[in-house]
Amino acid sequence: MSKLLFWIVIILVALVVARLLAQKATRGAPPTPSSRHRYPPGARPGAKDSPGSELMVRCAHCGIQLPTDEAVRRKGYNYCGLAHSLRGPKT
Ligand SMILES: [Zn+2]
Repeated sequence: MSKLLFWIVIILVALVVARLLAQKATRGAPPTPSSRHRYPPGARPGAKDSPGSELMVRCAHCGIQLPTDEAVRRKGYNYCGLAHSLRGPKT
């Protein structure tokens, strides 16, 4: 009877050790700590450039495409910069 109990304890310990090893493998293995904590979540480089993530507008003067938050808005038109906003839309 004590032999059966011994084997049950051995199996339980083995299961606990296997679970701990699996947790450690999934938690610690991927990227190095320095690269993992360099950027906050959602602010990774390249996320801004991914297609469809940001609304693009066209400069009314030169026609270049740029993100809405970088555009200069003047008299209902979007421009790539102050110079083109002063020149006005190209006819
Ligand atoms: Zn322009």
